[in-house]
Amino acid sequence: MTISDNGEGYFAEREDAQMKKQEDKKVRDEEREIRRKKKLEDDEMKAEKRRRKEAEKTEEEQEKLKEKERKEKYGKLAEKKYRCGVCDIRGRINDEMYGIEWYGCYNDTCKTTGWYHFESLSDSEKAVIRESLDDEDVRWYCKACFPRLYEEE
Ligand SMILES: [Zn+2]
Ligand SMILES: [Zn+2]
Repeated sequence: MTISDNGEGYFAEREDAQMKKQEDKKVRDEEREIRRKKKLEDDEMKAEKRRRKEAEKTEEEQEKLKEKERKEKYGKLAEKKYRCGVCDIRGRINDEMYGIEWYGCYNDTCKTTGWYHFESLSDSEKAVIRESLDDEDVRWYCKACFPRLYEEE
């Protein structure tokens, strides 16, 4: 004699089936929940990507703007500041690239523009600059400001 023969088995089976049904539902719910979360994550990731792209774009634009400003400012600065005290030619941003050296007189109230092409300087000034090239602390003064520094002995 087995359990199922006396009706108890029937209930047991029914209970099993119900439990299985509930379990299946639970699994389905969990799966749905996982899918829902995954979708949320995906959406979040997409949004994040979009935000990053947006940020990159703004950064790029800002960089371009800064570059433009820098050029304008530098151009003006160069125009204002680097005018050779000897030949009166204005300095260019890329002078250095072409091996054109500029030297500034340390005197804040320089008698000329305060800036000189190395090649425009007098021999004695060139000599002084050449001598002091290795010394970072040296303060160079132009001949216009301190002619006595260049007087031949
Ligand atoms: Zn010059
Ligand atoms: Zn000077």
